[in-house]
Amino acid sequence: MTPLPCSTNSPTLLSPWRRRCQWGATLLLILTPWFHFDGNSLLRIDIPNLTLHFFGQTLRIEELYLVLLFSLVLTFGFLLITMLLGRVWCGWLCPQTTLTDLAEWFTARLGLRGKKKPINKMFIQNFILQLIYLLLAFLVSANLLWYFIEPLDFFSKLLAGQLHYASWISLLLVTLIVYLDLALVRRLVCRDFCPYGRFQTVLADQSTLTLHLPKAELERCIECGSCVRVCPMEIDIRRGYQVACINCGRCLDACRQVMAKRDQPGLISYTFGTSGMGAKSLINLRTLLLSTVTLVLIVILLFAAYQRPSASLKIALSHSVASRILKDGNRATFFNAWVNNRSDTKGNYHIEARQAGNDTPLLLKGQTNQLVLDAGENLRVDFVLVTAVPKFKLEIEFILLDQNDTELAVAEAHIK
Ligand code: SF4
Ligand code: SF4
Repeated sequence: MTPLPCSTNSPTLLSPWRRRCQWGATLLLILTPWFHFDGNSLLRIDIPNLTLHFFGQTLRIEELYLVLLFSLVLTFGFLLITMLLGRVWCGWLCPQTTLTDLAEWFTARLGLRGKKKPINKMFIQNFILQLIYLLLAFLVSANLLWYFIEPLDFFSKLLAGQLHYASWISLLLVTLIVYLDLALVRRLVCRDFCPYGRFQTVLADQSTLTLHLPKAELERCIECGSCVRVCPMEIDIRRGYQVACINCGRCLDACRQVMAKRDQPGLISYTFGTSGMGAKSLINLRTLLLSTVTLVLIVILLFAAYQRPSASLKIALSHSVASRILKDGNRATFFNAWVNNRSDTKGNYHIEARQAGNDTPLLLKGQTNQLVLDAGENLRVDFVLVTAVPKFKLEIEFILLDQNDTELAVAEAHIK
């Protein structure tokens, strides 16, 4: 038998790049809640104050239309990326894939991969593995909660046993789910349960990026089976495109390594579609339509964010203090107001009132001047409106002004 030619060629591999992308994305998810911008978390949902801290912006619940718009941009952007690049997210970025890779790495390190030995013979290793799964599951669960509770606050409350019961339930429930995922399910999630995987089957078309082994190249295949053995989804790429493929490129690396020993290039490559048109196949109606919708949504989002007022005012009649007639015969009506500084600098505000329709100024007493709010801060103020006893319903406009007397927001109310 003629010996195979020995090659010193070391093929270019994608695995180091894939690992960097996976860990980069995972670290980003872990570290984002730890970063601050102007004293606020980079990204956190503050449930008690009904606000969202989003990269330096503080959005009140009434501004969540911006979040909705942002979610739409994300969704359509994601659909577009999937249509163009297939399941690149799954293979290169998804934390579930990273977690599964990590679980498999620990399994291998503890000598448990593919072992059919009775459980009692590998008891210690199995026990350690379950503890590692549990620790990973707890970290994932805690990481999720950091998007709702400041991480340092989370740890101090956890150690003091002062976490809210809802946080405890979430923490334990997510820990249990992730533990079961690591111990029992792993890649089955990607193959059978993940809704994104289902979407991908609908979105993939003749121009989607995929791993491909052209028929013409099959002649060079030496049937070594390396591409199949390394595939986490148990796919045989030689049989053509398969929906479960997560575009990880492991088969491409394996084939390149095998063929490099024969001084030949690998048989498998990334291509847009399998028709051989390359990137030109991206120019089609579906791609153009989805790109246009995504672009339009991005423009609307930018416009809405740019037009967003720098402060807001909400007014409500006081529920705790009833209106009353004063000695001079006028009536005092008690109001609560909520001022929100939506800008990224400190603001100095005051509130005025006028009769709607004819702009007659009305008298306010109480906490209506020198309202100094930090960027993103909310403030509740209580004040009294003094008017003659109205014969009919009196429509009032409350105006929020800055120190240059520029009107920033108007809130309406009425008294009878
Ligand atoms: S076929 Fe290749 S790219 Fe697809 S999942 Fe398997 S190893 Fe990854
Ligand atoms: S790794 Fe390459 S040569 Fe080996 S079986 Fe797969 S396609 Fe054929």
